[in-house]
Amino acid sequence: MFRLSDLRNYRQTVIIVVIMTVILMVVSLVFQNKIREVMYGDVKENFVRQSLIETEAINKSFAGIVDAMKSVALTLGDSKNIGGSSSIKALQSVTDVTGFSTVGVVDIHGVTLHGDMVSRDVFQKISGAFQGNSVVTIASSNSGGSYDVIFAVPVYSGDYIKYVMFIRSSDDELIEYLNRGNNFIKTERTVMTYLLYNLSDVVYVNHSTDGRLLPYFTFNVLSQRYQVTSPAEMKNIIEQNVNEIYNYKVDRYPEHYLSITPTQFDGWSYAMLIPVDVVNNNPRMVMGMFLVVEVATILVLLILLLSYEFTVNQNQKRIYKLAYQDEVTGLFSKARLREVFGKFIAGSFDGKDLFLVKLEMVNRQYITRLYGFEETERIELHSAEIFRRVTDPDVFIARVQDYFVILYRNADIQYVRDYIGEFLKDLETIPGVDFKAYFVAGITNCVFDDEIVSEASEDRLDYDLDNCTIAITQKALNIRCHTITVYDKAMRLEIIRSEQIEHELQPALDRGEFLVYLQPKYDLKNNRLYGAEALIRWNYKFEGIRPPYQFIPIFERNGSIALIDNFVFKKVLECQRRWKELGYRQIPISVNCSQVQFMNANLLTELKRQIQGAEDLVPYIDIEITESATIDDVRHVQEVLREIKKLGFKISMDDFGTGYSSLSNLSLMPFDIIKIDKSFVDRIDVRKKRSQSVLLIKDIISIAHHFNIHTLVEGIETYEQKEILRGLGCEYCQGYYYAKPMPLEDFEKLLAQDECFIDKCETEGQKA
Ligand code: C2E
Ligand code: CA
Ligand code: CA
Repeated sequence: MFRLSDLRNYRQTVIIVVIMTVILMVVSLVFQNKIREVMYGDVKENFVRQSLIETEAINKSFAGIVDAMKSVALTLGDSKNIGGSSSIKALQSVTDVTGFSTVGVVDIHGVTLHGDMVSRDVFQKISGAFQGNSVVTIASSNSGGSYDVIFAVPVYSGDYIKYVMFIRSSDDELIEYLNRGNNFIKTERTVMTYLLYNLSDVVYVNHSTDGRLLPYFTFNVLSQRYQVTSPAEMKNIIEQNVNEIYNYKVDRYPEHYLSITPTQFDGWSYAMLIPVDVVNNNPRMVMGMFLVVEVATILVLLILLLSYEFTVNQNQKRIYKLAYQDEVTGLFSKARLREVFGKFIAGSFDGKDLFLVKLEMVNRQYITRLYGFEETERIELHSAEIFRRVTDPDVFIARVQDYFVILYRNADIQYVRDYIGEFLKDLETIPGVDFKAYFVAGITNCVFDDEIVSEASEDRLDYDLDNCTIAITQKALNIRCHTITVYDKAMRLEIIRSEQIEHELQPALDRGEFLVYLQPKYDLKNNRLYGAEALIRWNYKFEGIRPPYQFIPIFERNGSIALIDNFVFKKVLECQRRWKELGYRQIPISVNCSQVQFMNANLLTELKRQIQGAEDLVPYIDIEITESATIDDVRHVQEVLREIKKLGFKISMDDFGTGYSSLSNLSLMPFDIIKIDKSFVDRIDVRKKRSQSVLLIKDIISIAHHFNIHTLVEGIETYEQKEILRGLGCEYCQGYYYAKPMPLEDFEKLLAQDECFIDKCETEGQKA
């Protein structure tokens, strides 16, 4: 969802861009004049440079005409008479080269020797050539129409001047001639170029010029400016100000800049005009372009920045989501939990008021297996929904892997328990779901007095989560109710201890720290020794005997219990062999087979291997299997038991009555004996011989007998108990009343004597 607050970065960007734009605009406005100046300078400079180039070109053109005439004049000087064919041909060549209309030759008296007659005026202008000069001059203007330009050169014969040769052209012809190969004039239409004669008359060069106003006004303009009256003065000024630009302003005429450059020919100047607009428009246009580019750049920048911001923002959101949000539930992730945990713990005095709860669905696997993954997810989403409603700033809820983590600060354990209890009630029933989800909660108080982690830090989180897990795994998981367990330091120590023990098993077996004790079993009818149960003992580091409950669960967890069971089995076989050889009565000895062994594919192979060569002893080995082992996978257990049975072993169901197995299992499994658990005996009130518990035992015995299964009662400690059981028809008995588990040597003595047990009732009675 798009929120306005997301725009924070965009707004910054826009502000930056706007500021940039304003700065750029202000800068360009402030420096506008400067820029214009620079550009005017450029245009003017170019203008002057161009006019010098043009002048140069015109100088050349003029010189070219004169040179051509001079070379013809040489021919004329040598020829005997002007009218001769060679001289006519030479004169004709000048017309060919220049295209000018009239070529003529006059003598010192003004008599025309060739070409048209010259008037007095014209002769006067030509006569300068009789002083040895080349003359280029304007001759006349026929009433504002065309002008005659006269070029004249002296014709020498030896050292003296014999004639003057002249050509006369109209201004149009001259323009034609001068424009040959002049690209600048052709392309730059706005620029007007003029040829001026004494600033008072004109031959215009550029086709685009209009009228012949220029010289007159030029003179006016310049004379006003310099307050001069005569052309000679003006010429002087112009020669001094070759590179100057004049403002040329006359009523009918648009304002121009004007440059005037004298040519090398006397009285002739070259004028160039450029409209002021062209000069001014240029910078204006450039300024405009500059602005357009400026705005376009800013726009592009803005778009780029915005799209960049947008991408960054999207990415940030994505990253935040990835890092801080659980994908399935949308709750906070572990990364966020770690941060909040760090914050909470930093603000906590000693962690005493800070609690961490790990909440895991216990029947998750069952639900998934029975109803499908979607249902599990539905429950989780529903739970997340409930958690999301929490607004308490002291409570933080996250989802890590497939469990929830709740963090409480400023709380005490009872408060946390109640809070979790409320949650669990809410989580139990989910709309549209028929079954119930059960959770297990592990709570830990994040106090800082642990040896392992004793300070407040984010890293503590894993340690405290670990503690929650320890608390959870303390109790056997019950998947039919909610469980709340509070972590205790002893739990961790226990785990550390069991981890140590795990590695000690094999070396201890090798060193012979393990012992087999035997607890006798008696026949209730006659108090005769009936058999025995082999029970393991660990003389830990030879420092003292440890009872099985301290190590068996640990080895069951990692599967190494098989090593113990095999060890006991081997020891029992050895004993049986020995006693047979000694000629003792052969009695069944039972060994315990841990329920984890049923998952062990090698169980049968191992048994077969062990009994090789001892087949005769097998009927005297009884294998005890706890009742709970038969609940999980009935068919598999049934199969394994049948195989065991086939090998010739007897099988007992141990701890009968504790595992909630159905009595129907009795008919399915090939048991020889059921061992009624001590808890039944404990419930007997010896004064009430017909109490419920007694009746229950009686029923169990009769059902067992119905299936041809013998019964043995465990944990008989008194004569009265024994008597009651005997009265109920139970056949065998095992308990401290008869004997405690004892070392092999002790049992061997007992077997050797093979005497009946003498009841202690009289002794008890005497005491009483
Ligand atoms: P269990 O198979 O039910 O063994 C009987 C336990 O009850 C023995 O405890 C025995 O000492 C005790 N007991 C017998 N009579 C009485 C009595 O009158 N009163 C009282 N209070 N207790 C009595 P133990 O030897 O500590 O063994 C505990 C459990 O450890 C056994 O229960 C068995 O499940 C397991 N265990 C012992 N040895 C082995 C073994 O070699 N392999 C396996 N897998 N488990 C074993
Ligand atoms: Ca047993
Ligand atoms: Ca038992």
